[in-house]
Amino acid sequence: MAAPATTRIGHFVDGQTRYESSESIDVFDPASEEVIGSVPAGTRAEVDSAVAAARRAFPEWSARPVAERAEVVRAISNGIAARRDAIAADITADVGAPITFATKVQAVLPAATSEAVADLLSSGEFSFREEIGNSLVEREPVGVVAAITPWNYPLHQIMAKIAPALAAGCTVVLKPSEVAPLCTRHLVDVLTEAGVPAGVVNIVHGTGPEVGAALAGHEDVDMVSFTGSTRGGRAVSAAAADTIKRVALELGGKSANVVLDDADLGKAVKLGVANAFLNGGQSCNAWTRMLVPESLHDEAVSLACEAAAKYEPGDPTDGSTRLGPLVSETQRDKVVGFIRSGVESGATLAFGGPERPDDRDTGYFVRPTVFAGVRPDVTVAQEEIFGPVLCVIPYSDEDDAVRIANSTVYGLAGAVFSGSDERALSVARRMRTGQVDINGGAFNPLAPFGGYKQSGTGREFGKYGIEEFCEVKSIQR
Ligand code: NAD
Repeated sequence: MAAPATTRIGHFVDGQTRYESSESIDVFDPASEEVIGSVPAGTRAEVDSAVAAARRAFPEWSARPVAERAEVVRAISNGIAARRDAIAADITADVGAPITFATKVQAVLPAATSEAVADLLSSGEFSFREEIGNSLVEREPVGVVAAITPWNYPLHQIMAKIAPALAAGCTVVLKPSEVAPLCTRHLVDVLTEAGVPAGVVNIVHGTGPEVGAALAGHEDVDMVSFTGSTRGGRAVSAAAADTIKRVALELGGKSANVVLDDADLGKAVKLGVANAFLNGGQSCNAWTRMLVPESLHDEAVSLACEAAAKYEPGDPTDGSTRLGPLVSETQRDKVVGFIRSGVESGATLAFGGPERPDDRDTGYFVRPTVFAGVRPDVTVAQEEIFGPVLCVIPYSDEDDAVRIANSTVYGLAGAVFSGSDERALSVARRMRTGQVDINGGAFNPLAPFGGYKQSGTGREFGKYGIEEFCEVKSIQR
């Protein structure tokens, strides 16, 4: 089910949907290349009125008992869960995420992580008070939060900010991605039904340089929580500097999957390819570099090609499709450019390539691509590609593997596969990244998520996510 051709989305300010911006931004279906909707191109004026609404709503919302805030967050989670299929259909329509993946992951994660936040509050596991000697240490909401989010997991990234911010007692002005904003129409219904008071969550649509920058630099915004590219994070930090507001950044990645010589190679490669190609390779934490012992390189490449062959690009609304189009023409061109650069760098093109996939005349499709024998210092092994492109990199020994894993400017995620838990743990501990999964360890909605180095500065989810939106006060007695 594609979104209707005329979906027109408005801002949401002080509990009202508004369309006043004179310009609008088209939203495209990346499979058909057709315009399927529009959002208003917000300006400083809408930002000012949304920030003012959030400021007005702050005293009442922050004074609500914690248990009541927990129940509102839970009601939001339930509202998202109840709309799972409609949300998934919209994410398939504007991101191009395959419908099965959109239904099982894209539309489920935001409800699951919000529910986890509600549970932490209602169980008392997250405490806003502690005593340290003669001090009473209290966590208070940081204030008005600007949340700026990307397109790749549009609702998941939004709820990763809204749920803990509301739990902490903050009010919010959200600037969703202008590339994939359709899910916000469900969010508005959910917020209203959940009884979120007017002004507690506001949404201003528009571009990053206009609306995002105005929020980041706004004198009445206390914190900006940004998820997006490292380039965008740099701009947000600079815009926020004058007002010394708190800045939390969730940025890009170039994660390594370190396959040790005692690993189950078949499992490591199969899960590694699946992870790298999930959501069309458009995941910040994708394991885009597969590090394998030199002696196992050729076998790993052949297994990777076998696995890649199962990711035939197809119609994202078809339940059997595993690889949809990339989100936009810009993203497709960027990824194709990277594939060309990989070939020029001397890496072996083991599978895929820069050409348009057969039978895909329309849509921003890219062939699933595997590079073999990649040198760790070349562009495709260093920069975030954000498409279905895997680099297999040979290493000489464990120290070499760790050195290569840590050799990019990023530090978001990673993986280790090994037959020995102890060896895997020791390598995981040497990796300079915020998350490491051992032998395909499952996603944990309570575990902190965030980056080292140029992958960011904060942590989202669970109690660490709530902490981000709190000020800490010490009272001595
Ligand atoms: P992007 O940086 O282009 O845009 C992200 C958001 O920032 C959008 O809402 C955009 O409008 C806004 N923006 C852009 N320029 C801005 C500016 N100068 N000032 C203020 N706001 C600005 O990123 P994207 O292309 O939407 O998303 C993909 C990127 O997001 C990838 O790099 C990916 O790794 C990253 N990402 C990181 C995480 C994480 O948790 N670390 C999660 C998802 C995506």
